[in-house]
This record gives sequence, C-alpha cells and structure tokens, in this order.
Amino acid sequence: MPEKVIIIGSGPSAWTAAIYAARAELKPLVFEGAITQENQQNGTLPLGQLALTTEVENYPGFPAGDLEHYLDDSIDKQQRQIMPPHQKEGVSGPELMELMRQQAKNFGTRVITDEITEVDFTGQPLKLTASDGSVQEAHAVIVATGARANYLGLESENRYKNLGVSACAVCDGALPRFRDKPLVVIGGGDSAVEEADYLSKFASTVYMIHRRDELRASKIMAQRAKDNPKIEILWNRVVDEVLGDDTSGVTGVRLKSTTDEDDLEVEASGMFLAIGHTPNTEFLRGKLDMHPSGYLKWTKPFRTYTSAEGVFAAGDVADDYYRQAVTAAGTGCMAALDAERWLAAKGL
Ligand SMILES: Cc1cc2nc3c(=O)[nH]c(=O)nc-3n(C[C@H](O)[C@H](O)[C@H](O)COP(=O)(O)OP(=O)(O)OC[C@H]3O[C@@H](n4cnc5c(N)ncnc54)[C@H](O)[C@@H]3O)c2cc1C
Repeated sequence: MPEKVIIIGSGPSAWTAAIYAARAELKPLVFEGAITQENQQNGTLPLGQLALTTEVENYPGFPAGDLEHYLDDSIDKQQRQIMPPHQKEGVSGPELMELMRQQAKNFGTRVITDEITEVDFTGQPLKLTASDGSVQEAHAVIVATGARANYLGLESENRYKNLGVSACAVCDGALPRFRDKPLVVIGGGDSAVEEADYLSKFASTVYMIHRRDELRASKIMAQRAKDNPKIEILWNRVVDEVLGDDTSGVTGVRLKSTTDEDDLEVEASGMFLAIGHTPNTEFLRGKLDMHPSGYLKWTKPFRTYTSAEGVFAAGDVADDYYRQAVTAAGTGCMAALDAERWLAAKGL
C-alpha cells in the first residue's frame, strides 16, 4: 500500500508539515536525511540548518530563560543524552529542532534516517528511492529539503563558525558579540548590501569586502550601500584568513588584493557571508520545475503546489528570499494542508 504522504527533509518546514499531517491522520513518513561525512561538510545533516547555530532569538515562543527541565521532560531520554548541554539562555538551534522532531513523533510520525536520491513523479503512486536502494511509494510528497549557505571554504572560517562567522545577518546581527563593533560582510550582490545595511544598525562600522571594483548589486542597492555612512566598501579584496582566538572568536580578517596591492588586516568581531545559498534540489533536476538558481517553483500563487501532481514544496527549498525558521515552518504547515486537501479531493 502506498503511503498517504512522505515528507523529505528535516528542518522546521518538514517537522511542521509532519505535525499537521500526523494530526490530520495522514500517518506521515519522514526521510530526515543521512548521517554522512559529505552531509557534515555541506551542512546538510538531519535537523537542517538551524541545528548549525547556537542561540535562536527570533523564533516566537522561546524568550530568554532556562529550558533545562522542559527539554528533559519532553525529549526522548536516549536522544536527550546525546544533546549538547543547555545554556539556560532560551532555545538553541539543535534544541529547537529536537523539540520539533519530538512533537512530530508524538503524533505518530515515522522517521527514517536516510536520504532520497531519486524520484519518479510521472504518475500515481509517486515513487521515491532512498540511498540504500529501497523504493517507497506515496500518493503525496512534501519536499522540504532546504538549502545550504555558501561559504568561502577556508579552514579558519570553519573554525570560527558560531564564534563570529555567520551566514545570516537577520539571524545573528543583534547578538551582543556584534553590537557596536566593526563587522565585515563578504559579497557584492543585492543580498550583501541588504545584510550590510541591516548590520549597520548594530555595528560601529560595516566593511563590505568585494573582489571587484564595482558591486554586482542593482544600482539602487549599490547606492544604498554608498549612502550609508556606516558602510565602507573595500574594493578588489578577498579574504585570505579569518583571524581570531578561542576566547574572543573572530577578531579580524586578513585580506588579499586582487590588484597586486599589499595584504590588509581589518579588525572585526564578525564576518558575515553573503555569497548566496544552494538549494538541496540536485536529485530533483528534470523532475520538478525550478528557477535557474535551482530553487523549486510554486506553480499556484500562495499555495505550495509544484509542477508535479501530488508534490508540494515547503521551506527554503522554494524560498530564496525570507529564509527564516518561522517562514519555513509556516510553509510546512501550508504544504501539509495543501496535501491533505488534494488527497481528499482525489479520494486518496
Ligand atoms: C548558521 C545559520 C543560522 C541560522 N539562524 C537562524 C535563526 O537564528 N533564526 C531563523 O529564523 N533562521 C535561522 N537560520 C535560517 C534557518 O535555519 C532556515 O531558514 C531553516 O532551517 C530552513 O528550514 P527548512 O525546513 O527549509 O530546511 P533546512 O533547515 O534547510 O533543512 C533541510 C534538511 O533536509 C535534509 N535533506 C536535504 N536533502 C534531503 C534528501 N534528498 N533526502 C532527505 N533529507 C534531505 C537535510 O538534512 C537538510 O539539512 C539560520 C541558518 C543558518 C545556516
């Protein structure tokens, strides 16, 4: 018997979709991804992007406070034992994700720790192949495979992730470590300007590091950067090394010139990457309509339908604009409701 709904992914959108689908008695099966070295390097292990961060200050419902007993009570003992210690300052990314996963399981969601590598969406039932070669059938599928932030790939950058290196200004910019301090933003497109502009609310100075002598951003956005007295653009420069130490985290960056100038060291307490994201859609190429950037297309306005009958998309995999946990959760809810109504209309 085909499953009613299979959910692929394990971020906020997948677990929210699972909670809604389970409570609607669709008995969802979630493929949460695989624990592999490749996924570790790419930042695509089960539990998604939020599990890569420490404090989550902007997800509603978790003001600062001590959640220790709540976590002890609500999460399976075995799982709880392997979680990092609670910092008593609100919720961390891994804690929030474990709570969502647990909530989905409490309503009967079944979870398989493997990834889907192939799909056949040409007709009913839909077919999914996992990396162990097993094939699953379902009437509806929710794709919630998210995206990953692009990094420079420097060893020093990796060392200071969560210690001053971030790929999300909206998520981390307001943290105390960045307030009234100089920061650097890497990139030259519209989103780099947006990140720099946002960070300038908190930082003393924001240095935009750009490899060329002109921003890639649209004219209006480039002007916004030039007009902001707190933003200084360092042209023709690339990061050679992130500087720092174990106690302070990031303390600066060493920049190489792309035009034969001398190296330059800039003092900064944070480095924000704004060089794009890669959606996790490689296995869906040719199966679902995508934007040229690889993000999935929603085919109906304000609905989560994709180009294949019975296949819905939620979270960052279909959103290159908001990219927040709460928006991913919101579209996860939408996808479950869309799938439920679609199944009912088809009598499946
Ligand atoms: C470092 C960092 C800090 C952030 N901080 C915040 C914050 O403070 N607040 C906030 O609101 N947002 C934050 N964000 C953004 C937020 O994490 C994302 O918007 C959100 O996680 C997107 O959720 P998602 O459900 O789309 O999936 P994702 O979180 O992207 O997770 C998808 C997961 O699905 C799994 N998957 C992928 N492909 C497959 C497959 N083929 N088969 C099975 N499983 C698969 C993988 O495990 C993947 O990680 C942060 C992001 C990063 C990178």
